[in-house]
Amino acid sequence: MAQDLSIDVQHLRKVYGTVVAVDDLTFSVPRGAVLGLLGGNGAGKTTTIAMLLGLLEPTGGDIHVLGIDMSKRRYAALPRMNFSSPYVDLPHRLTVRENLLFYGRLYGVKQLARRIDEIATHMQVAEFLDRQAGKLSAGQKTRVALAKALINKPDVLLLDEPTASLDPDTADWVRTYLKDYQRETGATILLASHNMSEVERLCDDVILLQTGRVFERGSPRELIERFGREDMEEVFLDMARGRGRGLDTLKKPEAAR
Ligand code: ATP
Repeated sequence: MAQDLSIDVQHLRKVYGTVVAVDDLTFSVPRGAVLGLLGGNGAGKTTTIAMLLGLLEPTGGDIHVLGIDMSKRRYAALPRMNFSSPYVDLPHRLTVRENLLFYGRLYGVKQLARRIDEIATHMQVAEFLDRQAGKLSAGQKTRVALAKALINKPDVLLLDEPTASLDPDTADWVRTYLKDYQRETGATILLASHNMSEVERLCDDVILLQTGRVFERGSPRELIERFGREDMEEVFLDMARGRGRGLDTLKKPEAAR
């Protein structure tokens, strides 16, 4: 695998019984890039992220993260990765601080107390560090989940709907924070999102997934141009509805290139 690739996925496949959730998915993400994974409900985004993290075993295909074969040595890569997902709840009875201590120790974070204070300030959760996680509002939980995702300053960050349930103002500064983090650290980010303005703002490259297969890929600007549309919202609607001006000139859903 090329040295400059943080994520390299080849012919990835996941079958649940009769459901093919991910079908021959091939993509790579260069170091320091932000890739958007877009698709309607059930397109296979969460399944892909779970396989990248080693939480789900692929039915077929290969995943390398930071040059490491995840099927053989994922424990060498995991300390340099992290994720946030609205589907993974933090332990409710633990306070926010206890949660961050737990995950910080899991990731072997040095000077953990200092790092917790730092990231809690950055994510604006410092004022409820000693509150139980289960007693936070949805938006506060999302910020805590992001603090957890950044606790080990990951080189590879997998974000599933990172601004879900945030108000527009908070979502906006979280996006700015993520962009700054990526620029300052050179981290690679894979972002699954239904928020198209977020995708336009953060992503260098986008994969449009439809029923587990790559439908289209390109930078947001390229896709908007190719579909003959104004923005990614319209591109997404074209894909979802299988119609639209842009589709006249579109290729058939392509296998991974
Ligand atoms: P959403 O935007 O709704 O979160 P998604 O793109 O993340 O969707 P996945 O959650 O990856 O989609 O699901 C992909 C497909 O796999 C769906 O058809 C889903 O019903 C199916 N699926 C996911 N998990 C399982 C499971 N444990 N058993 C059976 N089918 C599953």
